[in-house]
Amino acid sequence: MTILDGKAVSEEILEDLRIEITDLLNQGNRVPRLDIIIVGHDYASEKYVSMKEKKGKKLGIKIVVHKFEDDVTEEVLKQLIVKLNDDSLVDGIMVQLPLPKGSKTFNTKEILETIDISKDVDGLTYSSLGSVWVERESIGAATPTGIIRLLEEYDIDIVGKNAVVVGRSKIVGLPLAGMLARRDATVTVAHSKSENLTDICKEADILVVGIGKPEYITTDFVKEGAVVIDIGINRDYDGNLVGDVDFDDVKNLCEYITPVPGGVGPMTIAALFTNLLKIYKRNVRTY
Ligand code: NDP
Repeated sequence: MTILDGKAVSEEILEDLRIEITDLLNQGNRVPRLDIIIVGHDYASEKYVSMKEKKGKKLGIKIVVHKFEDDVTEEVLKQLIVKLNDDSLVDGIMVQLPLPKGSKTFNTKEILETIDISKDVDGLTYSSLGSVWVERESIGAATPTGIIRLLEEYDIDIVGKNAVVVGRSKIVGLPLAGMLARRDATVTVAHSKSENLTDICKEADILVVGIGKPEYITTDFVKEGAVVIDIGINRDYDGNLVGDVDFDDVKNLCEYITPVPGGVGPMTIAALFTNLLKIYKRNVRTY
């Protein structure tokens, strides 16, 4: 069994990005820029944004965070996005999700759809979500992009493999299914209404789970020699960070497995900045 070390791989990717950005800046190009919009004070969201800010700055990227209280109107958010769409110095725009619920419900889809697809660094507009099913090189959502990169870094064969993606959210399961299908896997998307989930999962050469249920996936769900990718980030009863897969139960049955933490999580941030650099290189070439 091999542990897919997302932390180590992501550090290598980030270092390569840093070197590439330094070269581009030394050639006289402008600084790449990512604008992040955050609404409210969700603890995890604020933590993710400050991590992106810190890591991005280390790479030589200008990170501009637009913070709003949760009483901000949708109109204000959309107007800001339109302004950023029109600003040629802005490469990527992202809205930190989830938007606050509470008394005011934001229409997340409408807000995201305001982002111009050419700046959709997080790959969450409907156009980007569709593109990953059609074009291999299109900019896709960060977490699934990071998962594909992790598989590639370990030379894990996708072509012709039976891939089962459990979870069908727009940020993870759906785009990942598209990316795997585009790379010639035979893909099944399972969800909370799926019957015989254990049987479906048992058929998987590549089993990817993003359901938000601590240690739900045990050996009953896993085929011997499978590749198991755990997207889940949960707290167990003792407050420890655990995935959707029962790592200790499953680890000896599979050939590859991601740990939580240190698997998919760090790859997500590496993928976000890889996406940003792709967009930036498109932009500076036209200068
Ligand atoms: P959502 O709640 O949006 O989606 C969960 C999905 O899992 C839904 O499609 C749901 O089915 C399905 N599901 C729930 N319970 C079951 C079950 N018992 N059996 C089968 N399918 C089930 O969650 P997210 O996609 O946002 O997140 C999923 C997990 O991934 C969370 O733990 C989250 O913290 C983590 N995550 C990690 C990231 C990272 O960078 N590592 C990034 C994003 C998320 P249905 O559609 O029928 O409701």
